[in-house]
Amino acid sequence: MILVINCGSSSVKFAVINPASGETSLVGLAEKLGSVDACISFKTNGVKTAATLSDTTHTGAMNAVIAQLTQADLLSSIRAVGHRIVHGGAHFHESTLINAAVLEQIKQCEPLAPLHAPANILGIQIAQQHLPQLPHVAVFDTAFHHNIPEHAHLYAIPKAISAAHQVRRYGFHGTSHRFVAAQAAQMLGKPLTELALISAHLGNGGSVAAILNGVSVDTSMGFTPLEGLIMGTRSGDIDAGLLPYLGKALNLDTTGVIDLLNKQSGLLGVSELSNDCRELEEAAANGHAGAILALEMYVYRLAKYIASYVVPLGRVDALIFTGGIGENSPFLRAKVLNLLAFLGFKLDDAANQAAFRGKSGNISSGVAALVINTDEEWLIAQDTALIAAQ
Ligand code: ADP
Repeated sequence: MILVINCGSSSVKFAVINPASGETSLVGLAEKLGSVDACISFKTNGVKTAATLSDTTHTGAMNAVIAQLTQADLLSSIRAVGHRIVHGGAHFHESTLINAAVLEQIKQCEPLAPLHAPANILGIQIAQQHLPQLPHVAVFDTAFHHNIPEHAHLYAIPKAISAAHQVRRYGFHGTSHRFVAAQAAQMLGKPLTELALISAHLGNGGSVAAILNGVSVDTSMGFTPLEGLIMGTRSGDIDAGLLPYLGKALNLDTTGVIDLLNKQSGLLGVSELSNDCRELEEAAANGHAGAILALEMYVYRLAKYIASYVVPLGRVDALIFTGGIGENSPFLRAKVLNLLAFLGFKLDDAANQAAFRGKSGNISSGVAALVINTDEEWLIAQDTALIAAQ
């Protein structure tokens, strides 16, 4: 069994997973860390337990995780620990066994992901203290996009500046895109190495990836996760000229403007109602003008991105919908496929309605459009098991 840890700025998600089957013997979440409401919940054999955390730090949360693993008699079955790491910088292009030098290199990526990296690093350090005898493996969100060619990953700014300051499109959600691409190949009954896929991971954050023969050749998130699609609270693509303009108009510094674009924009900002797609769909059905506009903009931007990825791919064998929205919103999927009918997609309405809450399937009777449930933790467990066995 593999212990998978996803240590965020105020939460720790964890799971004990069988890497061969993807079955979990324990999943859990410690959240609201650093606040008085900090709590932890576990699910084992369908039974859920929850408790408040007296020590509300990440260390306190990890202590509680280890205590729970001991109590559930799972600790001795764990062979390795897999860590989800948001940013691997330009250096890491695959999952990597963590040693002192690797940890140092992960630390050097911190300026590239100041919100996430410190928690990721803390997660590794605390887990290593608790489980020093086990191999620890880092699985990077950025790694899958490492091979995006230069003409697609560079920004058109002076080349020397890009080189000196590690400026490039890094892309994110790599673990999810990689997982669903492999699943798509299975569903299509073809080798991944012969497929041209477009993967749309649509959760609170969202990104599209163009995947040719198993390799990511372009993706919509960039140097940071702000670029690309309209998301729950992120604007996605925006004219950089707006930054100083908004700063002056709203009397905000750069951090304030970026905060506005990351946290108050997207579906939330346009609808003036919610960042939650489900809520917006309900409101739109009741005629809420903001919700209707926000969803229309969301679908339009998404369809434009998908269509543009025909350029790097040359053709499309399948489009993949995943993430909370991609897996559960027949409404948005239908709108996207209808806009993209010229690419050969033909909405199968019954299949679209049926692919919901964990049910995957092909929702197009033309070029395949696959609804696939992502499972990043399982892929982290698979990579970890493979590397630990070497
Ligand atoms: P995160 O990026 O935080 O992991 P998720 O992948 O869980 O997010 O996706 C969250 C999004 O999925 C929310 O916008 C939520 O409204 C949407 N979602 C979940 N279920 C449905 C549904 N039945 N219909 C429409 N949207 C849904």
